Amino acid sequence: MQKLFRVFLNSATYPFKNFAFVQENNAYYELVLLSLLQTENTIMYSIGGDKARIEKIDSFKNFPYAQKYLKPCIYNKGNCNTCGKCVRTMVALYALGELDKYSKVFDIDYFYKNIDWYIGYTIAHSRNEHYKESLNMMKKKNMLISKEAYRIGKVLSAAQKICDKNKNFIKSKMNI
Ligand SMILES: [Zn+2]
Repeated sequence: MQKLFRVFLNSATYPFKNFAFVQENNAYYELVLLSLLQTENTIMYSIGGDKARIEKIDSFKNFPYAQKYLKPCIYNKGNCNTCGKCVRTMVALYALGELDKYSKVFDIDYFYKNIDWYIGYTIAHSRNEHYKESLNMMKKKNMLISKEAYRIGKVLSAAQKICDKNKNFIKSKMNI
């Protein structure tokens, strides 16, 4: 890699002000990890840590290519529209009033047909600041959050709590 890249720019997952050594999530201390990965030929920078994720997404307005090439998805081909990264990006764009411009990279019809699920998923994950930012933006703008979305959020949240509570039990029953 060091023969290919002189400088590597990594978009900060969380604002630098939230720096912490969190055992379950190394993104909180990626500043340290990146510096450890540097070599004499390749310098690594974490950028955008002065902004919240929704502010970074809002700045896409200045880069029209994002509407053609944005790919937050964790999977290889295109955007799946349903993984956590796709959901939080689509909901953030929706909260910003920008989603409709991204029909080349996201299935916008699918989003609107399932909007209660998208918002419900966001509510269920709103302890994570990436989802919370979008939810707060929607509330600030008095955007409609249906009763169904709140209900879906409650159900998904309860299901996640049950999974978390029984994680070790389930693991102990797997013969992998
Ligand atoms: Zn995806």
